[in-house]
Amino acid sequence: MHKLWSDAAKRTEPYVPGEQLNDPDIIKLNTNESPYGPSPNVIEAIQKEVSHHLQLYPAPDAEALRDDIGRYYQLDKEHIFVGNGSDEVLAFSFMAFFNTDARIQFPSVTYSFYPVYAKLFHIPYEEVPLNQDFTIPVESFFQSDGGIIMANPNAPTGIYLSLENVETIAANNSDQVVIMDEAYIDFAPASAASLVQDYPNLLIVQTMSKSRSLAGLRIGFAIGQPHLIEALFRIKDSFNSYTMDRLALAGAAAAMKDDHYFQETTEEIIRTREWLIPEMKKRGFSVLPSAANFIFTTHSTVKAETLYNELKRRKILIRHFQNPAIANHVRITIGTEKQMEQLLRAIDAIIA
Ligand code: PMP
Repeated sequence: MHKLWSDAAKRTEPYVPGEQLNDPDIIKLNTNESPYGPSPNVIEAIQKEVSHHLQLYPAPDAEALRDDIGRYYQLDKEHIFVGNGSDEVLAFSFMAFFNTDARIQFPSVTYSFYPVYAKLFHIPYEEVPLNQDFTIPVESFFQSDGGIIMANPNAPTGIYLSLENVETIAANNSDQVVIMDEAYIDFAPASAASLVQDYPNLLIVQTMSKSRSLAGLRIGFAIGQPHLIEALFRIKDSFNSYTMDRLALAGAAAAMKDDHYFQETTEEIIRTREWLIPEMKKRGFSVLPSAANFIFTTHSTVKAETLYNELKRRKILIRHFQNPAIANHVRITIGTEKQMEQLLRAIDAIIA
């Protein structure tokens, strides 16, 4: 820590993402990327953009892409905000809706970026403990001082909160913004985007990094009533008047339009997940019910850290967290069926 740093730099503890190893032989199951490439239409759209338009600035407010996303949710573009990955959209949301004098709430086990942003922007927060079975204690979120943020499905548990519960939380906090981070929602029963017309305080944040196979392009978006979207634009325009670069805009628009590829790949990941869970249970794991593209699991005898290390030695990378509340659990991304067979073979060798 240097004496020349601002207070914000001093109090910030940066987020540490999952390891990105360069070894091409690694089976990477640690950061919930898609095992499938993006739609071929995405590649074509980006190539076209590279050939013709890179000398031009992108559309500042990304109208065309916001139209495409809005169409998917039967909303107009005034209800949509886009940014460089949902991490950026979340950071803007913290600045647009939370204050330094009112405590926000989020679950104690959730996406570890939330405390990072809260510290960076000097927003006080309460980490609400989960129930014993890792579900969200809904009633504890009925009267927040400063607003609420949670991931649905939650990460790293994968547990889905029903739309009925999302609605109750929004209804009980009508003077604060309730942010639902739906990074994994396309692997779950239904998005709360359908509720935004009824709840002026509800903001949905989603990403194209998971179900649309575009983690490398960095595209996230928010869905909410126009007064919330306007606040996000005020913050964004204070940093950079261009929302996203031309390649990301072109790729994202093509991904949004290829519904067939999107349905096919998400259904395949869900099918693989549902096949994997009983296979893990047969081998002595307990696995939380997952509505995401990952599972959260613990073994009856093998320690999580040992499992992580032994799999890494066999070139399979999974996620092990330092948070003491979940220290004996690991999170494993759903890959292709072939990758999951390799995972099970490695597990068989480790637990033998
Ligand atoms: N929210 C949650 C819950 C996540 O797990 C992630 C991925 N690490 C993100 C948001 C951010 O995703 P991205 O910035 O790639 O859109």
